[in-house]
Amino acid sequence: MATTGRPKRGVPEGLWMRCPQCKAAIFRKEAESRCNVCPECSYHFYVPARDRIRQLLDEDSFEEWFTNLRPQDALAFKDRIPYSDRIKAEQAKTGMPDAAVVGRGYVRGRPVVFGVTDFAFMAGSMGSVVGEKLTRATEEATRLKLPLIFVSGSGGGARMQEGILSLMQMAKISAALGRYDRAGGLYVSILTNPTMGGVAASFALQGDITLAEPGALIGFAGKRTIWNTVRLELPEGFQTSEFLLHHGFVDRIVPRKDLRTEVARIIDFCEH
Ligand SMILES: [Zn+2]
Repeated sequence: MATTGRPKRGVPEGLWMRCPQCKAAIFRKEAESRCNVCPECSYHFYVPARDRIRQLLDEDSFEEWFTNLRPQDALAFKDRIPYSDRIKAEQAKTGMPDAAVVGRGYVRGRPVVFGVTDFAFMAGSMGSVVGEKLTRATEEATRLKLPLIFVSGSGGGARMQEGILSLMQMAKISAALGRYDRAGGLYVSILTNPTMGGVAASFALQGDITLAEPGALIGFAGKRTIWNTVRLELPEGFQTSEFLLHHGFVDRIVPRKDLRTEVARIIDFCEH
């Protein structure tokens, strides 16, 4: 989230922010009062997992599950810095043990199992903890016969620092979602900016109903990766919510402020 250049005298830092889409300088407070959406052009800014829970679920209804799960550096992986150091830094930065939060709560009075991945923690990438939490949440939804709502904000896809342990999460959660589906469960997937890689290639695009926020980047490999691999220039607007809606991957684009009502309506429609 970009702020406007040099702080001006008498203006506390961070009071204004620059919208990356329309370039307008907007009051941070005003954007916040609109669920972090630009008042000028409706650009949807990043939302931390905790705020997402507040926006989507009924007040104080969320009960978090599996809070004791912690990531491990099983491969002693090192890129620029050791993975174990990276985990500690990300935990300090976000106050979260890893990139996913799951639990149960209510959407306009309807009980649901809920999960969200947060871009702030290693780009929301899916390592063992993210995969395990989402899998367990799906299994609980199966056991409790509750609708399942996942919000993906994972630009990182699978977490390369965990190698094969990260890749196997895709299969693990897909299998759990398959069992949930056979048990008759309703899974609503909400795609937010960005949803990429192994996350898009597993739980995010396996919803019974797939909703997306406007203008979100959604895809498997990014533009540059595709060019480097197969020398293919992508069409304009490829990998946006709007493009995916047009091509049938997304069922409906829903502005953030309407998501809670829309999810409640879907639950009512599917459960009666
Ligand atoms: Zn804007």
